[in-house]
Amino acid sequence: MSQVITQTEANDKSLLTYSALNTFRNCPRKYKNRYLDNLRPRDRAEALSFGGVIHTAIELWYRSSDTELRLGEILAYLDDAFENRRLDSNQMVQWHLATAMIRGYAERYKTEDFEVVAIEKEFVGEIRNPDTGRQSQTFRIAGKVDGIVRCHDGLYLLEHKTASTVDASYLDKLWTDTQIALYCYYLRELGYPIVGVIYNVLLKSRLKQSAGETQAEYEVRHSELAAKNKSGKSSAKRQMPETETEFQARLAEWYSRPEAFHREFIYLSEDRLAMLQDEVWEITQQYLDARRRGKWLLNTSNCFSYQRPCEYLAYCQSGFNPNVADNLYEIALPNEELSRVDSEAPSF
Ligand code: SF4
Repeated sequence: MSQVITQTEANDKSLLTYSALNTFRNCPRKYKNRYLDNLRPRDRAEALSFGGVIHTAIELWYRSSDTELRLGEILAYLDDAFENRRLDSNQMVQWHLATAMIRGYAERYKTEDFEVVAIEKEFVGEIRNPDTGRQSQTFRIAGKVDGIVRCHDGLYLLEHKTASTVDASYLDKLWTDTQIALYCYYLRELGYPIVGVIYNVLLKSRLKQSAGETQAEYEVRHSELAAKNKSGKSSAKRQMPETETEFQARLAEWYSRPEAFHREFIYLSEDRLAMLQDEVWEITQQYLDARRRGKWLLNTSNCFSYQRPCEYLAYCQSGFNPNVADNLYEIALPNEELSRVDSEAPSF
């Protein structure tokens, strides 16, 4: 059994990511599956890959200052990301959506009220015992934020999200985003005086490309319309499939609406940040206990959270059958997103 909580180490301490921490808190067994046994489902959720592509596209947008060139480069990236779209209708749907979303974003945010300070900023910070202030001898925490920007009243984290709707309950959930609050705490420690978070939300349009109607469908509709007319005739024409250009134009109109993009500003209280420190410390203590005793409990109340089954359900149901593990999962190290860590303080 592995003795580390993530794959990376610094200063002889194990690096703990929020994702690992949260996974352990929600289900210790899930933590073992993902972070100790390195099992990753072979079929990754489609929503995740779409979100990942958009995330990279927005990252490219803010990395470049050449307004003329960058849209073209990002659209080329989207073409590459969905390169099989001519053979795979699912990819075509996602390509249309991503292309229209990014074109709309580029139009809406040609100029910004903030200045970009850092993009994809990685960091490492100390975990402390809240009672004594002493550093953990075992762990440090590592993370990466989408961006840090400077507004007129100070520095903010910039966090990109794609969503189907932005309603009151969605906005309420942003207040419970523990990960971002924790990252603010550590970035402050590293010398970035973060005052809040800007959630940069890109809405997913539900428009679908019209398939038109078949000749048979047209004939049925035509005769129904004709039957309703006194003349017994109808001038209705067959509805032809919507072309790609027509569909992109309809999506572009959708993405020109104000509600297609949303920016939510959230400010963080000192009390909340202090509470998070307590929480992180407690979870690391529970982790050390589980590791010492080799007990990774199954939290079955978590198997269907987020309205979908946990990706390890089949494996847990099989009693951890190695054949199920081989068939449904591949071995992949977690935390691939942390390519390097940087704990140097900035100068302001
Ligand atoms: S299926 Fe349930 S018990 Fe198994 S790892 Fe997932 S949440 Fe934990």
